[in-house]
Amino acid sequence: MTWMITGGAGYIGSHVVKALVDGGEQVVVLDDLSTGDPARLPEGVRLERGTVLDRDVLDRVLRENDVDGVIHIAAKKQVGESVERPLHYYRENVEGLRTVLEAAAEAGVRRFLFSSSAAVYGMPDVDLVTEQTECLPMSPYGETKLAGEWLVSAVGKAHGMATASLRYFNVAGAATPELGDPGIFNLVPMVFERLTDGKAPLIFGDDYATPDGTCVRDYIHVEDIATAHLAAARRLAADPDAALILNIGRGEGASVAEMVDIIRDVTGITEPAPEVAPRRAGDPARVVASAELITKELDWSARHDIRAMITSAWEGWLLRHPRD
Ligand code: UDP
Repeated sequence: MTWMITGGAGYIGSHVVKALVDGGEQVVVLDDLSTGDPARLPEGVRLERGTVLDRDVLDRVLRENDVDGVIHIAAKKQVGESVERPLHYYRENVEGLRTVLEAAAEAGVRRFLFSSSAAVYGMPDVDLVTEQTECLPMSPYGETKLAGEWLVSAVGKAHGMATASLRYFNVAGAATPELGDPGIFNLVPMVFERLTDGKAPLIFGDDYATPDGTCVRDYIHVEDIATAHLAAARRLAADPDAALILNIGRGEGASVAEMVDIIRDVTGITEPAPEVAPRRAGDPARVVASAELITKELDWSARHDIRAMITSAWEGWLLRHPRD
């Protein structure tokens, strides 16, 4: 099987590429290198530089490589930016997906895997979020992912494609330091940055209705995200009728205060102590996956714990930000 992986040179995409290559699949990557880096790709993987909005490039790459399946990861993913630039996000995430789906359908591709997000749930009021929990996204970013899932399902039905939308929870960690997250947009790298600058880590709100008052999330190692994609790809290859929507999480929550404690321990930088800052607009108190369905459907479960995520993320951080 040959898989075209869009966004394969990015942080999550490069881990998915590695998992598929290690699993013996053929891979071609389409990436515009806006945030991706060719150095993230394993040797021998073909990289086509281009955007998912470019039909000509898509048609050529699908045809030249005899692509059997698409894993569409390329997208914009900053919630705050999506509020400022909704038109940009709908174009990149929804029109980008629509263009890839159209090219794939016309090229006779029969398997399509889509990167979705826990952001589709918005502010869920349940202990564990199942795939049946109501989707009420709170940002244009979350909306583009939910609209994307609808489009993937509809096209799958109409064009006879096996499909899967995978809802990522909070991704962290790295398979190797070289594959670490280059962005500083999430809790773990934001705390690394504060600590290495000699500043107090910030905890956005400690008066939520959670056990310690800080927000609870389901953090998942990016390598686990990647193996879930390999399992889903194999399922789509074997089951032409698949139409899956699955959470990828560990089914366990960790609070911001707990995360910051482990980060201080792993980095050995314990001063200055964390400071409580005002709540960040739009943050739900608790978002933790039920991982029951993905375990049942794909016989997959996460292997790495939080300490492994933070330790590997820290090694990646040190490679990018050497300390004297
Ligand atoms: N957070 C925090 N301090 C930071 C960065 C993030 O307290 O410096 C909190 C944030 O408010 C949220 C959690 O950490 O409750 C995870 O945030 P992130 O942006 O990583 O992911 P999100 O769950 O918002 O997608």
